[in-house]
Amino acid sequence: MLWPLSSLGLSGGGSELGQPFFSGSAAPPLPVFSWCVLFAIAGAVVGSFLALVSLRYPRGEVVALGRSGCSSCGRTLGPLDLVPILSFAALRGRCRTCKAAIERRYPIIEVSAAAIGAASALLFPGWQALAAALLGWWLLLLAVLDFEHYWLPDRLTYPLILLGLGATIAFTPALLLHHAAGAALGFLLLWSVAAGYRALRGRHGLGGGDAKLFAAAGAWLGWYDLPLVLLGAAGTGLAAALVLHKTGPGFLTKRLPFGTFLAPAIWIVYLGTKA
Ligand SMILES: [Zn+2]
Repeated sequence: MLWPLSSLGLSGGGSELGQPFFSGSAAPPLPVFSWCVLFAIAGAVVGSFLALVSLRYPRGEVVALGRSGCSSCGRTLGPLDLVPILSFAALRGRCRTCKAAIERRYPIIEVSAAAIGAASALLFPGWQALAAALLGWWLLLLAVLDFEHYWLPDRLTYPLILLGLGATIAFTPALLLHHAAGAALGFLLLWSVAAGYRALRGRHGLGGGDAKLFAAAGAWLGWYDLPLVLLGAAGTGLAAALVLHKTGPGFLTKRLPFGTFLAPAIWIVYLGTKA
């Protein structure tokens, strides 16, 4: 199985960049379309896991691999119940035995993660596609946790900062200083906004997790792309607040989960500037 690896750019020193490992041999390089399908399938599986994590992690439960049973009747789920996206569609969103509704989060997060995988494979070569997908999946989980619990756990934001610096060393080592400065600047910027708001209004406006997530944005993107992320997150956040204000009163008095808007803004700016 050397030729698909080589088309991913993983062939090592044996071949020119982008050339099949055995140029002239019968095996063609795997076309981009196949990589997209492969990354989409991997994304759906990852999404299934992320949906489970988003349920169990906030409750402080152990996150093991896979759902064990129906949350309503307790029937043990078999392999046919656990195929991402397809099981939900085939069962029309209901448990096979008790017909209780399956959590909507599963298809929503699985489809989102599949789309993140496919887009990453389409836009980036080789290992960078994996890095882009990893970033997207990580941000997806953070967006869901912040949306449901106003919670961006340190256990997820700190590693994402380190991963961003690691990705910079791997793909654009010359820019490491800019990305390290981005991490520091991103944290300081939102941290001081939060501190200022607290001093002026006497209550929390931004969570501390937002500053750490923005630090991760700086680590992945470099300091110069931070204004773009902030603009995107604030713009979509404001638009969402206005739309929801029209449909249901009282939303504006609630706190907006800023991380839910920061996360997609970070990923889209990553795609736009690094691809
Ligand atoms: Zn059931």
